[in-house]
Amino acid sequence: MITTLGLVAHDACKPVLLDWVGAHRERLSALTLFATGTTGRRLMEAYPALAVNALKSGPLGGDQQLGAMICEGRLDALVFFTDPMSPQPHDVDVKALTRLAVLYDIPLALNRASAEAVIRG
Ligand code: PGA
Repeated sequence: MITTLGLVAHDACKPVLLDWVGAHRERLSALTLFATGTTGRRLMEAYPALAVNALKSGPLGGDQQLGAMICEGRLDALVFFTDPMSPQPHDVDVKALTRLAVLYDIPLALNRASAEAVIRG
Protein backbone atom coordinates (compact mmCIF):
# COMPACT_ATOMS: atom_id res chain seq x y z
CA MET A 1 0.00 0.00 0.00
CA ILE A 2 1.32 3.42 -0.98
CA THR A 3 1.23 6.08 1.71
CA THR A 4 4.35 8.10 0.81
CA LEU A 5 4.98 9.19 -2.77
CA GLY A 6 7.91 10.99 -4.40
CA LEU A 7 7.22 13.41 -7.25
CA VAL A 8 9.84 14.72 -9.69
CA ALA A 9 9.61 16.17 -13.19
CA HIS A 10 12.28 17.56 -15.46
CA ASP A 11 11.48 21.06 -16.68
CA ALA A 12 9.93 20.06 -20.01
CA CYS A 13 7.74 17.53 -18.19
CA LYS A 14 6.55 19.75 -15.32
CA PRO A 15 3.32 20.76 -17.13
CA VAL A 16 2.47 17.06 -17.57
CA LEU A 17 3.10 16.32 -13.89
CA LEU A 18 1.06 19.37 -12.82
CA ASP A 19 -1.80 18.14 -14.97
CA TRP A 20 -1.53 14.58 -13.66
CA VAL A 21 -1.47 15.76 -10.04
CA GLY A 22 -4.49 17.96 -10.73
CA ALA A 23 -6.38 15.01 -12.15
CA HIS A 24 -5.65 12.91 -9.05
CA ARG A 25 -5.47 15.53 -6.33
CA GLU A 26 -8.18 14.00 -4.17
CA ARG A 27 -6.36 10.64 -4.00
CA LEU A 28 -2.97 12.34 -3.67
CA SER A 29 -4.13 14.54 -0.80
CA ALA A 30 -4.43 11.36 1.31
CA LEU A 31 -0.72 10.58 0.75
CA THR A 32 2.43 12.10 2.18
CA LEU A 33 4.10 13.78 -0.78
CA PHE A 34 7.77 14.58 -1.24
CA ALA A 35 9.09 16.43 -4.29
CA THR A 36 12.32 17.91 -5.54
CA GLY A 37 12.53 21.66 -5.00
CA THR A 38 11.24 23.25 -8.18
CA THR A 39 8.71 20.52 -8.85
CA GLY A 40 7.42 20.91 -5.29
CA ARG A 41 7.16 24.69 -5.53
CA ARG A 42 5.28 24.51 -8.82
CA LEU A 43 2.86 21.98 -7.33
CA MET A 44 2.21 24.11 -4.25
CA GLU A 45 1.60 27.20 -6.43
CA ALA A 46 -0.85 25.30 -8.60
CA TYR A 47 -2.57 23.43 -5.75
CA PRO A 48 -2.22 25.41 -2.50
CA ALA A 49 -4.43 22.94 -0.62
CA LEU A 50 -2.06 20.05 -1.38
CA ALA A 51 0.65 19.47 1.24
CA VAL A 52 3.95 18.84 -0.55
CA ASN A 53 7.26 18.46 1.26
CA ALA A 54 9.77 20.17 -1.03
CA LEU A 55 13.35 18.92 -0.84
CA LYS A 56 16.42 20.44 -2.54
CA SER A 57 16.19 21.08 -6.25
CA GLY A 58 17.05 17.93 -8.19
CA PRO A 59 20.40 19.14 -9.58
CA LEU A 60 21.35 20.43 -6.10
CA GLY A 61 20.83 17.10 -4.34
CA GLY A 62 17.06 16.61 -4.30
CA ASP A 63 17.27 13.44 -6.38
CA GLN A 64 19.79 12.07 -3.90
CA GLN A 65 17.57 12.99 -0.96
CA LEU A 66 14.76 10.95 -2.52
CA GLY A 67 17.23 8.11 -3.16
CA ALA A 68 18.22 8.15 0.50
CA MET A 69 14.56 7.94 1.48
CA ILE A 70 14.14 4.89 -0.76
CA CYS A 71 17.06 3.03 0.83
CA GLU A 72 15.77 3.91 4.27
CA GLY A 73 12.35 2.48 3.41
CA ARG A 74 10.68 5.88 3.70
CA LEU A 75 9.30 6.19 0.16
CA ASP A 76 6.68 3.75 -1.14
CA ALA A 77 6.62 4.83 -4.79
CA LEU A 78 8.20 7.33 -7.17
CA VAL A 79 6.65 9.28 -10.03
CA PHE A 80 9.54 10.72 -12.00
CA PHE A 81 8.70 12.28 -15.35
CA THR A 82 12.08 12.31 -17.09
CA ASP A 83 12.72 14.29 -20.26
CA PRO A 84 13.78 11.85 -22.99
CA MET A 85 14.76 14.66 -25.38
CA SER A 86 17.24 16.76 -23.38
CA PRO A 87 20.55 15.98 -21.71
CA GLN A 88 20.52 16.67 -17.97
CA PRO A 89 23.53 18.15 -16.18
CA HIS A 90 22.76 15.90 -13.20
CA ASP A 91 22.29 12.73 -15.25
CA VAL A 92 24.30 10.73 -12.71
CA ASP A 93 21.80 11.70 -10.00
CA VAL A 94 18.87 10.77 -12.24
CA LYS A 95 20.42 7.36 -12.87
CA ALA A 96 21.20 6.86 -9.19
CA LEU A 97 17.62 7.64 -8.19
CA THR A 98 16.00 5.36 -10.77
CA ARG A 99 18.55 2.65 -9.95
CA LEU A 100 17.60 2.72 -6.27
CA ALA A 101 13.90 2.59 -7.11
CA VAL A 102 14.59 -0.55 -9.17
CA LEU A 103 16.94 -2.04 -6.57
CA TYR A 104 14.49 -1.59 -3.71
CA ASP A 105 11.61 -2.69 -5.94
CA ILE A 106 9.27 0.23 -5.36
CA PRO A 107 6.72 1.24 -8.01
CA LEU A 108 8.47 3.65 -10.41
CA ALA A 109 6.54 5.64 -12.99
CA LEU A 110 8.62 7.40 -15.62
CA ASN A 111 5.73 8.70 -17.71
CA ARG A 112 2.07 9.55 -17.39
CA ALA A 113 0.73 6.19 -18.54
CA SER A 114 2.72 4.33 -15.89
CA ALA A 115 1.80 6.93 -13.26
CA GLU A 116 -1.87 6.19 -14.02
CA ALA A 117 -1.19 2.52 -13.36
CA VAL A 118 0.60 3.28 -10.08
CA ILE A 119 -2.14 5.55 -8.75
CA ARG A 120 -4.87 3.06 -9.71
CA GLY A 121 -2.97 0.07 -8.36
P1 PGA B 1 13.50 20.14 -9.71
O1 PGA B 1 14.39 18.88 -9.96
O2 PGA B 1 12.18 19.68 -9.25
O3 PGA B 1 14.21 20.94 -8.66
O4 PGA B 1 13.43 20.89 -11.03
C1 PGA B 1 13.98 17.90 -10.86
C2 PGA B 1 15.13 17.09 -11.31
O5 PGA B 1 15.52 16.12 -10.67
O6 PGA B 1 15.71 17.44 -12.35
